Amino acid sequence: MNRINLLSQRLANQIAAGEVVERPASVAKELLENSLDAGADRIEIDLEQGGVKLLRVKDNGRGIVKDDLALALSRHATSKIANLEDLENIGSLGFRGEALASISSVSRLAMLSKSSEDDTDNGWKVETEGQNMDAKLAPVAHPRGTTVEVRDLFFNTPARKKFLKTEKTEFSRIDEVFKRMALSRFDVQFTLQHNQRSIHKLLPAKTEQEQQRRVALVCGPAFVENSVHIDVERAGLRLWGWVSLPTFSRSQADLQYFYVNGRIIRDKLVTHAVKQAYRDVLFHGRHPAYVLYLELDPAIVDVNVHPTKHEVRFRDSRLVHDFLFSSLHKALAEVTPSDRMTSNSDAGELSAVELTGSEMAQEQPFVHQNPLSLREPPAPAYGTDRQSMPGAIASVQDQLAVIQKLSSADAEVPPLGYAVAQLHGVYILAQNKEGLIIVDMHAAHERITYERMKTACEKEELKMQPLLVPLSIAVSQAEANCADEQQKLLLNLGIELERASDEAIVIRQVPSILKDSNIEQMIRDVLSDVLEYGSSDRIQAHQDALLSTMACHGSVRANRHLTIPEMNALLRDMEATERSGQCNHGRPTWIFQSIDELDKLFLRGQ
Ligand code: ADP
Ligand code: MG
Repeated sequence: MNRINLLSQRLANQIAAGEVVERPASVAKELLENSLDAGADRIEIDLEQGGVKLLRVKDNGRGIVKDDLALALSRHATSKIANLEDLENIGSLGFRGEALASISSVSRLAMLSKSSEDDTDNGWKVETEGQNMDAKLAPVAHPRGTTVEVRDLFFNTPARKKFLKTEKTEFSRIDEVFKRMALSRFDVQFTLQHNQRSIHKLLPAKTEQEQQRRVALVCGPAFVENSVHIDVERAGLRLWGWVSLPTFSRSQADLQYFYVNGRIIRDKLVTHAVKQAYRDVLFHGRHPAYVLYLELDPAIVDVNVHPTKHEVRFRDSRLVHDFLFSSLHKALAEVTPSDRMTSNSDAGELSAVELTGSEMAQEQPFVHQNPLSLREPPAPAYGTDRQSMPGAIASVQDQLAVIQKLSSADAEVPPLGYAVAQLHGVYILAQNKEGLIIVDMHAAHERITYERMKTACEKEELKMQPLLVPLSIAVSQAEANCADEQQKLLLNLGIELERASDEAIVIRQVPSILKDSNIEQMIRDVLSDVLEYGSSDRIQAHQDALLSTMACHGSVRANRHLTIPEMNALLRDMEATERSGQCNHGRPTWIFQSIDELDKLFLRGQ
């Protein structure tokens, strides 16, 4: 009793497995990472019963030489690093050398491999036996590459097995791992089979179009149709990928893929920067969708922070945060109606080709008459007071002129087209070459007013206002230090403060527009942001919130009747305004229905 024993190999490995092998999906992750690290460009995954009965990963990578096979299954054995310097410059996904040992301690694992360095024709199979996990080798036929077969996961650790969910749930988690991997390496072919059924077959994607197609297969076509492609490079950092338009937000943060040097991560700093970029355009409580790749010098990011390697630490977190925020913010601000039009029609092309192989979109000339245009113009009996009309409608002559323009090949038609009528005093109906546009006029005008006010505010710079009575706030020492060190940054935000003591600061001036807000709370929030992310957008956020409220009250209300020229002027303003696709609250300001889509509604041409 109470004597000290050395744990058996298997038990020690089983304990280690607790950290990394939680369920079949974690096994899939480790095996896929190994295949990618081995330089494979074709990877096949085969599952039975949600991966619990069987999880097999086959690759065409480098393979393992016979003499190393036994070692691959033992703990702390890796070919990926040899010393501490290597750890600081990780280029591989794995490096801890414990995945295979852990997995084989809690399942029946067999590894088959053939390396081109062995001069035999056959490959070798290795399995482990007994408490010492002795390796047993036998020759097998195997092409160059490696197959790892994991059967009966947790058969010898019943406590773990109890935590497994239904086959369907375990499968969907593996599917998620598969998707993450598939998006991490476009050059690799991935296939997935479950219970003999083919689930995914993703061919290597070289061109941007092929990559986009893979993203559509993995994330759904709607995501690609409603996102913009970005590619920004600055100061040794590169960010590229696809980000959803704010109007394509989701109720959950489930469509968010972020890669750092090819490794998927979930990181607070990244989430914060992205959220901040969407701040002004996303409907409250909604989440953006994205597939993004950050590439940077591996020496300035530490991946050895967590056993599953889902978290990273950036050496200069402020630089990374600012880069992410500003790149995304800019990309979202620059989305114009014509971008959305082209992304819509691209998507239309894709699905048309996939569904029927025809080019319906091109064949349809613009001959459709909007039923509204057939209506007589309002009789002069209404008088000249347009405000009293039930809703302005373009005259027949105007309509004909517009239709002529729309159907002539070389006439330039603005993206949001020309107004046709106003509906119920709320919506503007407009047409362009491709179809019908419906605009929520209040929402649209609100955004235009808001953006104008922001620009005006920026031009005047942040006017500061001294507080009549300087405000003293008790803070932590870390916060006081931070306030002290970042005085210049804070001054740029319109805050002038001084350190009063070890744990107190005094606020002297704040941005005048915010003088009536809860300054103490705001300063606390700003300081905690600066401490954590190296920057803060709270001031901007507070200021924008105020401007937004002002803009909302200053914008055209529903039930105001606009004339056709007024409506057209609003459409042109929208085209010229940043972020005009959403109102200040993140709701869409306009929607588009192509003639194709309308035809489908009416079963035309079917
Ligand atoms: P790590 O990936 O951290 O090195 P693992 O336990 O996952 O640790 O793998 C141990 C070693 O086995 C790897 O370093 C690698 O040399 C070898 N290995 C594992 N899987 C493969 C594979 N699919 N192809 C080639 N070598 C592999
Ligand atoms: Mg590994």
